[in-house]
Amino acid sequence: MKIICVGRNYAKHAKEMKSEVPTEPVLFMKPSTALMINNKDFWYPDFSNNIHHEVEFVLRICQHGRSVQEKYAWKYYDAMTVGLDLTARDIQAKCKQKGLPWEKAKAFDNSAPIGKWIPMAEIQDPKNLKLSLKRNGEVVQSGSSADLIFSFNFLVSYISRYFTLNKGDVIFTGTPEGVGPIERDDLLTAYLGEEKLLTTRVR
Ligand code: MG
Repeated sequence: MKIICVGRNYAKHAKEMKSEVPTEPVLFMKPSTALMINNKDFWYPDFSNNIHHEVEFVLRICQHGRSVQEKYAWKYYDAMTVGLDLTARDIQAKCKQKGLPWEKAKAFDNSAPIGKWIPMAEIQDPKNLKLSLKRNGEVVQSGSSADLIFSFNFLVSYISRYFTLNKGDVIFTGTPEGVGPIERDDLLTAYLGEEKLLTTRVR
């Protein structure tokens, strides 16, 4: 499986990163070794001193798809959860400065914790969903799918023009504003609406 991630999909987050609001989705990938499930602990890596949380809506691909039309895109994902696109912001800043790829900052082991899957059939209005992240019980990020620059269906269609989608692939759809550092001993909890789907303790 592969993890496809979207960068800068909320105007306010692009602004906080001092980045331009994109006219096309910004895409990058994480390998399967980045995926972390079952609410495991996250072990703070020794190569960074500034790991940031980015809470995101995450889609689960349910069938093979290539150059999928946007109007049929909904058929290609069957579940949603929330995930954390954990980012070594110090390394990313160096990569950006030198115009280098982001993998070391974004795609390291366990950099993509995801929560429990909710079937799309149980989701009332995918265009108006809330997500949030609490750090030690305090809300640090919250957002709505209504504020996505590129919708879920548009992203599935767009991504599938470049990368064939396979069953089990996962799409991280971008983070709203409010990204910030995590520290050892933090408890991170992520919510889809009111429902807590993901918990991880930072070690
Ligand atoms: Mg992200």
